[in-house]
Amino acid sequence: MKIAVYPGSFDPMTNGHLDILKRAASLFDHLIVGVLVNNNKKCLFSPEERVDMINEAIQDLENVRVMHFNGLLVDFCDKVGATAVIRGLRAVSDYEYEVQMFAANYHLNHKVETVFLMSQPKYSFLSSSVVKEIAYYGGNINELVTPLIAEKLKKRMTK
Ligand code: ADP
Repeated sequence: MKIAVYPGSFDPMTNGHLDILKRAASLFDHLIVGVLVNNNKKCLFSPEERVDMINEAIQDLENVRVMHFNGLLVDFCDKVGATAVIRGLRAVSDYEYEVQMFAANYHLNHKVETVFLMSQPKYSFLSSSVVKEIAYYGGNINELVTPLIAEKLKKRMTK
């Protein structure tokens, strides 16, 4: 059985993430979305909230599971039996960082491959930070995240 991990902060998940997630799920037997718990990174949503928001959006996908993790990605892959890591590429600007991450992970564990999926052009500008900024200033985020996530973001921004 081919298992892949799609890791990220997902603070919160955008429709760009969701698109990569669905496409990756169609390529592997099982996909695990790994929500990174990084104490050095200030997140708007807790790991549990981020996991819940993704879970709500993937109810119809039978081969996807959402978990949070900390520590090294390759260790998480070993723990869940994954042999591939999925990363999304939006633009050339993502490339340098992604090559470095790939090289570090490959150095640590040759058995875990990284698979890059290109963002659809309509999502190539989209990031969690962009969505948070638009929401902060009261802009329309309805086409950028799921309805539940748009609701949670609006509430969080007015707190
Ligand atoms: P990180 O905090 O590790 O940068 P993110 O949550 O921002 O993680 O993103 C996780 C993965 O999803 C990364 O591979 C990133 O390039 C990809 N990604 C983010 N936004 C998009 C998008 N709009 N289209 C395609 N891939 C995306």
